[in-house]
Amino acid sequence: MLLYIHVPFCRRKCRYCAFHSLEMGAATAVRDYVETLLRELALWGDRMGAVPVTSVFFGGGTPSLLPARTIGTILDRVAKAFAVQPGAEISMEANPESLTRPSELRTLLKVGVNRLSMGVQCLDDAMLHTLGRPHRAREALDAFRAVRAAGFQNVGMDLIWGLPGQTLRQWMQQLKEVVRLRPDHLSCYGLTLEPGTPLEDDCATGRLDLPPERAQAAMFMDGAELLETEGYIHYEISNFARMGFQCRHNLGYWEGEDYLGLGPSAASTLGGLRWNNPEDHAVWTRQVDEGRVGTEAERLTPQTRVLELIMLRLRTARGLRVKAYRELTGRDFLRDHQRLVHLLHREGLLRIRDGYLRLTRSGMLVSNSILERLFEDTETLMALPVETPATPLPDAGKAAASNAASGAGQSAQGVAGQPARPDAERDAPTGADAAAASPSPPPAPSAGRSHG
Ligand code: SF4
Repeated sequence: MLLYIHVPFCRRKCRYCAFHSLEMGAATAVRDYVETLLRELALWGDRMGAVPVTSVFFGGGTPSLLPARTIGTILDRVAKAFAVQPGAEISMEANPESLTRPSELRTLLKVGVNRLSMGVQCLDDAMLHTLGRPHRAREALDAFRAVRAAGFQNVGMDLIWGLPGQTLRQWMQQLKEVVRLRPDHLSCYGLTLEPGTPLEDDCATGRLDLPPERAQAAMFMDGAELLETEGYIHYEISNFARMGFQCRHNLGYWEGEDYLGLGPSAASTLGGLRWNNPEDHAVWTRQVDEGRVGTEAERLTPQTRVLELIMLRLRTARGLRVKAYRELTGRDFLRDHQRLVHLLHREGLLRIRDGYLRLTRSGMLVSNSILERLFEDTETLMALPVETPATPLPDAGKAAASNAASGAGQSAQGVAGQPARPDAERDAPTGADAAAASPSPPPAPSAGRSHG
């Protein structure tokens, strides 16, 4: 099982953010939060027993605002409640302005945090100001060096492209500057204008302009190419890693592993059941104290499960295993979506190999549109009876046979050393595509997000 812990505090609210986070206020609010979280952990430990946990992810919000020794206390309680596996990935989202004290960084390492994901977002002070970020570019670079000097060997950075006023040249220059630091992992998200945020209002009223669609597409394509040239594996639409540094938490989510989310607003999916903790801290606290947290779960419908399978797997470089679709639906993906698959294949947006369908980089760029069409077709098909074996497509047949023989498939890009995790986070990424399509994906869980 994957464990996600939502820390709902930030120094101040960024102008593009729709996550559940509160401005860090009175110390009592933080203390109350931590005490409730510890009780929630104990509650789940009692309910579930020593369930093996392969990954713990502190997301938010800004988890790095909590004192390192508090993170240690939480991790001690995690270890009491669950069977944390040797070598488990313990990730924490962190913002540059909260990574300044070497002694805190060393304590974080000592208490077991072994992976940091830094919310850098961009290296231009004017744009950081537009985004409402509480740090400057120089602080981000200094924080990265401080984290390395403290001994962290697995450090990632989150960046956003497609920012108001940003040019392709600026984005590529920033990317080159970041790459010179050799982070182990990079998450590059296209800016999403979340309804109701100040940034969305600025763009809607014309005070700010997003880059043209063509420039946004080039930021995704050229950025990915640069990172690959620099030795990063493009293992998910928005994620790149040096070999062996793929985020195991997120991979687990994309592969459909169970995850338990703790803290206000956290989502969980366990054994085919899904629920969200309340956002309101008082309601969350009451549910924990009354032992009711997680008791109002919904059973995932077959339709939701298959839509999530398609959505999550097609985000990854490995892709969607045709056999997994059959196991879930009793139907044949290639037959069900024959015309669309042929079309996408012909246009160079999709490839089939070893029993896996994967989007090419061009396909990733327009993934929202592709998913929207797949969702519509799947929803119609799910109302039909289960079918008999299909007539394979030309190259798909070969792929399926090869998969049956080997019992496993690898995508053409191949993602080595991966356990077969959420953003995560939401992250339908591509700004160019986001403008063109409005898919109706299943609700995205909160675990494993990268954004802070
Ligand atoms: S983007 Fe991240 S750091 Fe900014 S307010 Fe949202 S959760 Fe906090």
